[in-house]
Amino acid sequence: MTIKIKVALILLIISLSVNAQNTVIKAGHLFDARNGKMLNNQIIVIQDGKIKEVGNNPKFSKSDKVIDLSDSWVLPGLIDCHVHITTNLSYRKRDWNDKYVTESNALRAIRGSIIAKQFLENGFTTIKEIGNDGNYATADVIKAIKSGWIQGPTIIYAGKIIAPYGGQSWGINPENEHFWDWEFMDADTPDEIKKAIRKNIYYGATVIKMVTGDNGIYDVADIKAAVDEAQKFGMKVTVHVKMGGLEATNVILGGAAAIEHGFGLDNTQLQLMKEKGTFLVGTDFAFDNWYAYGMDSAKAKAWAAIDIDRLKRAYTIGTKMAFGTDIVIDLPGLNRIQSNLKVLDNWKAAGIPPSYILQSMTFNAAELLGIEKERGFLEESYYADIIAVKNNPLVDIDAIKAVHFVMKEGAVIRKD
Ligand SMILES: [Zn+2]
Repeated sequence: MTIKIKVALILLIISLSVNAQNTVIKAGHLFDARNGKMLNNQIIVIQDGKIKEVGNNPKFSKSDKVIDLSDSWVLPGLIDCHVHITTNLSYRKRDWNDKYVTESNALRAIRGSIIAKQFLENGFTTIKEIGNDGNYATADVIKAIKSGWIQGPTIIYAGKIIAPYGGQSWGINPENEHFWDWEFMDADTPDEIKKAIRKNIYYGATVIKMVTGDNGIYDVADIKAAVDEAQKFGMKVTVHVKMGGLEATNVILGGAAAIEHGFGLDNTQLQLMKEKGTFLVGTDFAFDNWYAYGMDSAKAKAWAAIDIDRLKRAYTIGTKMAFGTDIVIDLPGLNRIQSNLKVLDNWKAAGIPPSYILQSMTFNAAELLGIEKERGFLEESYYADIIAVKNNPLVDIDAIKAVHFVMKEGAVIRKD
């Protein structure tokens, strides 16, 4: 190569990098997740999928691509910390066992890809998928998203659920022992727990999910063994505890990152969670969601009241909460995300301020997932996971049900 050609090439490379087109979003209002407030007239400059600068007056070039959201409320992409994208039970039937027999892993992966897209298009740019996904069906959905075959959110993934003998099955006859292996791994000692964690990680897990109290109860030492093993891989442990009691106390003392559900946690436990930094992912089913499980109206109402009471107590005590829905039954005429967001009825009924609800869906959730340095805020160096709505969600949180703009890592997914 002659010197002339080399110089020409270098000049070309320099000019390309100088003129690289950034994306600029003009935000009429922007949610400051850290302080729970809206900032007016902000400009976000995006380069290579990340936020380069944000503020009142950042510099940008005339050749940059401008997206005008000056009439909108702009928020970090939302995060749901408890989802099951490959599962769908029939309305008012609770047909888990039938589904295990009739739905292949392939069918479930196809469903997962559809629901993953629903999450993304409705503003959830990150989800925590925690099991009940057949034989690692979600691992394939994640591969398809990463390969660009389909669109979906960033997925933090648990793999199979680790549980005491029997998983979350009930009344299976001995001839069908291990029927539940389809979705659960029996692990009854610290060594078995370690092995199960390693297996999940091998198949793609990035978070560890355990269940305690449905069949056996894990000891503090069992939970601690899981936390120590997961930590070696930089992962967190989250544990399903349906109500409260000894199983909840063991999970908190064992150092798990979160309790999922915890419908019956008492004030002492919520206080202990606050002190230990244990998150509550409350999965606060609204009346419609409980009713969808086949309960009669009175029972569904009673369960919704339990949720509301526990939400109120957790908020008053100051237990850290991360938003999680756990819906596996689509309500009539609604898609999965619309069905999920029914839980907001309970957050509203509990009197929790919209700013805190949004924080539980952004930076609290990011902290629980260990991604708080990458996502959950609209600040410099964060991924450009950005959504917009037409009404102020700090006035009515239901505004987030009508997302009209979604960007994931700098790519526009939706712009109505
Ligand atoms: Zn769940």
